This record gives sequence, C-alpha cells and structure tokens, in this order.
Amino acid sequence: MARDYYALLGVARNATDQEIKRAYRKLARELHPDVNPDPGAQEKFREVSSAYEVLSDPEKRRIVDLGGDPLESGGGMGGGFSNAGFGGLGDVFEAFFGGMNQGGGTRKPRGRVQAGADSLLRTRLSLQECAVGVTKHLTVDTAILCDLCQGAGTNGNSKPVRCETCGGAGEVQTVQRSFLGQVMTSRPCPTCRGAGETIPDPCRKCGGDGRVRARREIAAPIPAGVANGMRVRLAAQGEVGPGGGPAGDLYIEIVEQPHDTYVRDGDDLHCTIRVPMVDAALGTTVVVDTILDGPVELTIPPGTQPGEASVLRGHGMPKLRATSRGDLIAHLDIVVPTKLDSKQSDLLEKYKATRGNERTEVLSAQSEHNSGLFARLRASFSGR
Ligand SMILES: [Zn+2]
Ligand SMILES: [Zn+2]
Repeated sequence: MARDYYALLGVARNATDQEIKRAYRKLARELHPDVNPDPGAQEKFREVSSAYEVLSDPEKRRIVDLGGDPLESGGGMGGGFSNAGFGGLGDVFEAFFGGMNQGGGTRKPRGRVQAGADSLLRTRLSLQECAVGVTKHLTVDTAILCDLCQGAGTNGNSKPVRCETCGGAGEVQTVQRSFLGQVMTSRPCPTCRGAGETIPDPCRKCGGDGRVRARREIAAPIPAGVANGMRVRLAAQGEVGPGGGPAGDLYIEIVEQPHDTYVRDGDDLHCTIRVPMVDAALGTTVVVDTILDGPVELTIPPGTQPGEASVLRGHGMPKLRATSRGDLIAHLDIVVPTKLDSKQSDLLEKYKATRGNERTEVLSAQSEHNSGLFARLRASFSGR
C-alpha cells in the first residue's frame, strides 16, 4: 500500500515545489528531535522527512503520481530516510538546525548497490483491444545486469576498496559561516558519489556500474477494460539498479486509438444512427455491430423523436477487473428529407390532410415538449 506523501506534508496533489518546501520547513521546525522532545514527534519527523524526500524529487514524485511508492521498491538499498541528504533534504536540515549529523552520525554510506529506476512505455491500442485485453509485444531500451561481472562491477577477482576521499563515509563535510553561526554542511563524496567505496579495477564491460544498456523484448499482458491514459504496472521489469540492484517497475501507458463508429465515455460507448423521418414515425430495426457481441438488432420504436437515444444495456466496454459491462448508447439522428419530387410532395400533402388540426405553433414555456434537453434526459432515463 503506497503511503500518501501529500497528506503527510498537508499539501495538495498539484502543489508546487515551493509549496512543498514551505510545508516541509514548517513541519520540520515543529518536529525536529532537537526542538521537540516528544517521542511521537521523532517518528512523525521521519515520516514527514521521507515525504519531503519523495515529493521534492521529480522522478520519485512521478512514481507517487503513478500510484507507486518509490521508497518501497528500494528494499532498503536506496532511497531510505538515512540517505535523504542527497538532492536537497540536507540543505534544509542544515539551514535550520546546523546539520543533522551532530548528534552522533546515524547516516551510512548508501553503498554502490541501489534500486533501479521505474520506466514508462506508451503503447497504442484499438478500442477492440481495450475491450478484449491483449498481450502486447514491446521493445524497451533499458538497463540489465552486466553478465560479465554479475553486477559486482569489478574485474575478475578484484575487490572494491574503501574510498580515500571520504574514508568510507560516503559524504564529505565542510564548515561554513552563516547567519546562524558556524554551520556544518555535508554533501555526497565527489569521488565515490556517496557509495563509500571505489573500484580500482572495474569490469571491462560495464565500467563498474554493474549493469549495461540493452534492448529487451517484453510480452505485456494488458487486461480487458483498460482506457486511454491508464498505466499497467509490470513489477521488476524496469531498469536494473547500479551495482546490480533490484530492478524498478515498468509502466505501460495505454494510448487508445479513435474508433470508426464508437466514442467511449468511461465504460459506455456512444454512436449515432441516422433515422429517416418515416422510419422514426413508423418504427424500424437496425443491426448494430457491437464491440464484443457481434451484430445486435436494435429496435427503433414507432414515434421516435429527435434527440432520443436507444440504450443496449451491457453491450459497452467491460469494466476493469469486474464482470459487469457498460452500455451502448445509440443517439438517434432523425433526418427530414430536403428534396421532394412532386409525387412525394403530393403524398405528404395527402398525409397532412388526414391529420386534421395539426399545425405549426409557438409552445408555452411550460410545455413538456419545450426543451429538447428534457426530451434527451427522458430518453436516457427511460432506457429504450
Ligand atoms: Zn568517497
Ligand atoms: Zn560488469
């Protein structure tokens, strides 16, 4: 279950970077262990800090917005709270509290092995494919485990050694003067990039990264009922991490192609049927090629009015991960002939003569026929 990082910081899902930073600073000032002795505050501080770590990193925030949790896939190898100093969190601590390591240094080098990044791939699907579900064969450019060193990054039997620049701590510290007095700041070690160790004799194939770029073929199972913009998650099919760390996830985003006949609205399908005036008056039937059930005969009852719709219940799109289906809604476009020959005009004149006092008139505002909108609403509720 992904944590709600936005709620932890008390910001909206569309909050700007500035708003996120401001919310975090405010909470950090209240909750930091140096300021707030309450044991509950410490736990809250950790949560709030991880929320800030995630939401201040565009890549991690994107994962959250996809419904994932960037701190979960890390499996303790990357992205944990103790590593939060990389990429911004450290700055905030230091600006307000003079560095977070002063109490005893709980930070550890992050190590060379880290979780891989998530990837996103888009694929076009026809409406038919969205309705039935399909296995899509896709090609993805990604990072895979280096087969020469199996992720170790070392050449042959050589071993990584402790970084000389940082002594294995993964970070280097400098003392700066600021308006708060002397402030110790720390940043990732430039030599080992936070790993705490270096590889003097790196793998010839991957250069020490433990992974290589490769093109992979993927068979992605797309369930029935997906819609435009939805993302299907393939666990551990993303990039392998540095040092052969666990792979991220691969998300497949659906790009639904327009259909010749149907316009989709959620699980419902809409189409338009042209009905000549006389067919609308006398009633008729028409065969509709449904998306999943083949041809289905639709009855247009006698006296069908302009703006009415016929609904084929349960002939729409399947609902995702459910057995029920949406509806197929046929909007009836009643067509009045524009050109009549003399014989046809005579027939209609004779027809008119049989209709007695039927005539063209202005309706009262209270007339139930007054609004085409009401007629359409009635049609959609009556379910014909
Ligand atoms: Zn180092
Ligand atoms: Zn290698």
